[in-house]
Amino acid sequence: MKVGDGSRTSAWYDTWSNLGPLSNILTPRVISNVGFQLDAKVKDVHENGSWSWPMAWRDLYPVLIQRDHITLNPVERDEICWKDGSELLDYSSTNVWHSIRFREQDVNWVKIVWFPQCIPKHAFLMWLILRRKLLTQDKILQWEFSRRKNMNMMCCALCFADIDSHQHLFFECKFSSHIWNKV
Ligand SMILES: [Zn+2]
Repeated sequence: MKVGDGSRTSAWYDTWSNLGPLSNILTPRVISNVGFQLDAKVKDVHENGSWSWPMAWRDLYPVLIQRDHITLNPVERDEICWKDGSELLDYSSTNVWHSIRFREQDVNWVKIVWFPQCIPKHAFLMWLILRRKLLTQDKILQWEFSRRKNMNMMCCALCFADIDSHQHLFFECKFSSHIWNKV
């Protein structure tokens, strides 16, 4: 959490300091024994520029006392952030995705498939084609059950001459070739 006025950040259970959630070091019993509420927000444990930790905690949890001072800003809201390494980013699905995904070098056909205003359904199909992953009949026939049942029923729906496959659809099918030549 990026603390603004401290009114939306849980003092104990949110990560708002470099110590992580304070509940990692303070048990609910310890917290309530000194009079703090378990649902306290950061602003409830901060007064006049310093922390309202009880004296007893100073000896027991020195990290609490040493930690950086946070100045609450009454006109700023607390915000949920995404930490990417040491960088604090706005929490958005885009930022999270970019930080957790594995990045590879762009393939040289990337712009043919994905571009602004592409039709997602077409882009996805194109991606399958370029990966040679279209579910063509030659692939289906490799499945055990279909080999038994459907072998005789399978043929290219455009020319009826052969089973369809990547190679057939794009390079061998007479019907496709006819269209390609017209285009
Ligand atoms: Zn065909």
